[in-house]
Amino acid sequence: MKIIRKKTREIKLGSLGIGGSNRISVQSMTKSNILNSIAIRAEINELIECGCEVIRIAIPDKSAVSELKKLIDSGIFRVPVVADIHFDCTLAIDSIKAGVSGIRINPGNIGGRERTAKVIDYAKKNGIAVRLGINSGSVDKKILRKNNGNIKYSMIESTIENIKLFENLDFYNFKISAKASSVIDTISVYRTISEKCRYPLHIGVTEAGPMIPGTVKSSVGLGILLAEGIGDTIRVSLTDKSSEEVKIGYLILDSLGLRNKGVNIVSCPTCGRTTVDLQSIVKQIEEMTGDIKKGLKLAVMGCIVNGPGEAKDADLGIAFGKDRAAIFLKGSVIKRVKKDNVLKEFKNELEKLL
Ligand code: SF4
Repeated sequence: MKIIRKKTREIKLGSLGIGGSNRISVQSMTKSNILNSIAIRAEINELIECGCEVIRIAIPDKSAVSELKKLIDSGIFRVPVVADIHFDCTLAIDSIKAGVSGIRINPGNIGGRERTAKVIDYAKKNGIAVRLGINSGSVDKKILRKNNGNIKYSMIESTIENIKLFENLDFYNFKISAKASSVIDTISVYRTISEKCRYPLHIGVTEAGPMIPGTVKSSVGLGILLAEGIGDTIRVSLTDKSSEEVKIGYLILDSLGLRNKGVNIVSCPTCGRTTVDLQSIVKQIEEMTGDIKKGLKLAVMGCIVNGPGEAKDADLGIAFGKDRAAIFLKGSVIKRVKKDNVLKEFKNELEKLL
């Protein structure tokens, strides 16, 4: 099955194209306090290092804006930076003046049409992209009352209303997010929005939780939408390190064949046929390959019975036998080595592929 992406309008976030025929980008949001210069700089560098393509930063007050400006002026961002604004439209305007590539606003809490229009006017004049960010937790109260508290309908109505507002202001350089913490609501809202408009969609499940449950919710929610061709940029929201969000984002895209970045390790769950500590071997291979940027599929299989066959599309693989291990390239065994030497031999073969 080939995923056919829904056609969306292309927007520009700095030099990055989002929507249209651009690849699906992976983004994250910093978690450090922007006033803690050492922590925020380390986090930004780590995000860029692991391939984050858009960095969003919370701008809660004026002091955050001046720190943001210092960061931008220092040249630390080598990817577009987005200021995340709630409640105060002057912070959005000041962030634009500070040099961001985009702002994220939630019209439900920015203070009404007039203030939203003021921000859009600034964005338009400065060539800035806007993310229209409707969240289940902060939907416009009036709309919520009108829909008898139904979050899903309220999010859709609020999104459509704000799209019209932006269009009436002759502003089109925006993408839309409408995240709920419920996976089902998230899927349903995005499906409807994607039917109703052609603006690029930033997709994610909000407040997904800690690493394991958050990864599962995000994978299910984003996976279903992406498989239906919905989504132009993604964020995995975890109560964990932002760099982990990025890594998981790429793994989700990779699992659907939408993007290959770095090494994809395919390993078996092991069973009674396994004669080695496969978990520790896979961990060592993960460490050995963590910095590789080239898209490669590596297979590590616990036995020779199913090994090469089950992972025949892997670029390089190992399957363990009783005393020896077979190393195979694209499903063909190229050598059999002693188990003690397998990691060294595997590394040698891997280097030839790089
Ligand atoms: S590859 Fe072999 S060891 Fe691994 S789960 Fe399958 S049968 Fe068991």
